[in-house]
Amino acid sequence: MVREGLRQLVTGGEAFVLRPRLDPAFVRWLWEFRRSCSQPRFDAGVRALLALNERTLELFDAYRDAGVSFEMHTAGLVVAARTREGLDLYRAIFRRLRDLGYRGGAIDELDAAALVSLEPALDAAHVVAGLHATVDRFVRPEQLTAGLAESLRRDGVEVRERCELSGLARRNGGLALETTAGQEVADRVVVAAGLPTAPLLRRLGMRVPLVGARGYSVTVAGRGDPPRHALYLAEAKLGLSPFAGGVRIAGVFELGARKAEAPPGAGERLIAAARPYLGGWRPDADAPAEAWAGLRPATPDGLPLIGALPGLDGVYLATGHGMLGVTLAPATAALLAPLVLEGRAAPELAPFDPARSV
Ligand SMILES: Cc1cc2nc3c(=O)[nH]c(=O)nc-3n(C[C@H](O)[C@H](O)[C@H](O)COP(=O)(O)OP(=O)(O)OC[C@H]3O[C@@H](n4cnc5c(N)ncnc54)[C@H](O)[C@@H]3O)c2cc1C
Repeated sequence: MVREGLRQLVTGGEAFVLRPRLDPAFVRWLWEFRRSCSQPRFDAGVRALLALNERTLELFDAYRDAGVSFEMHTAGLVVAARTREGLDLYRAIFRRLRDLGYRGGAIDELDAAALVSLEPALDAAHVVAGLHATVDRFVRPEQLTAGLAESLRRDGVEVRERCELSGLARRNGGLALETTAGQEVADRVVVAAGLPTAPLLRRLGMRVPLVGARGYSVTVAGRGDPPRHALYLAEAKLGLSPFAGGVRIAGVFELGARKAEAPPGAGERLIAAARPYLGGWRPDADAPAEAWAGLRPATPDGLPLIGALPGLDGVYLATGHGMLGVTLAPATAALLAPLVLEGRAAPELAPFDPARSV
């Protein structure tokens, strides 16, 4: 990945971008990232994520059963490639996942004809092969978040918006919180502030190894029948999620970006990169293409930080989920709650202990 980042920096590639900075924290992050790039550490990380992810689907179902309202689709994921080499990487990744214990359902390899018959939104003249992961889901994240907040409020939980936490200290046996809405006292605190967790804890003299990995998405209307599955376009490295009312095209991993702002033309570029794969459904050329941008909180070993914060009793972290924060949020909450409330440490959380790097 380090080699690929430097190569894309020189060649102007867009899927993975490294924005070099002479900031010591960023250099330290890169150094730690480089140290994490070994097969044994990769395998151990994937095993840990698989174990954390084990109950994800059942937890999403439980949200639904509890009355949380959000869009969720269960048709599975189709990886489409325009070249045989383009598919090789994903075939190898899926094979490795199986070897490491993935048991989430069949992953079928399809030739072009089978691929387009399964997913007519693709262009039979341009895709050559693909993979179908039969057990896979996608949700509309902004609806999930709003649905959860609404359900919590219904249950009597107070959700305060636009209230920033700026300081945190142990005082008189409790935790004193400085916020933009005044002071608060708490028994226990879970810091789940995404990328800004790092500057927040730096003010307390603690270093959390997080950098921003910017990504973009654009949600567009189109002509024809929208994709039936979530799609992943192998060479373009883009994901497509067909939501009610528009297909979301998302991707790009821009390491070291500081602002969640999309540069001009980002939406058009995402659409242009996806277009060559598409036939039965095509993005509407006249539709607005304004991109959304987000900063993923990325750790150098690719694993989230979940558990007690060393050195500050009663404070817990749940951050650093990188590209998997929506997927892993329910499992993170389900396993962290017993630790925070009853001191019960789930063995699945051991690999994510913040003590490894804070
Ligand atoms: C283009 C793109 C595509 C993605 N696709 C996927 C995907 O397919 N699947 C997947 O699982 N994940 C995906 N992700 C990653 C996912 O969005 C992140 O992992 C996730 O948002 C991280 O969640 P978080 O709650 O830790 O942080 P955030 O989402 O950043 O939320 C942190 C929250 O804390 C608040 N906050 C920050 N500082 C403070 C403070 N001092 N006081 C009070 N509040 C504060 C912020 O306002 C924010 O509401 C994608 C991301 C991007 C950008």
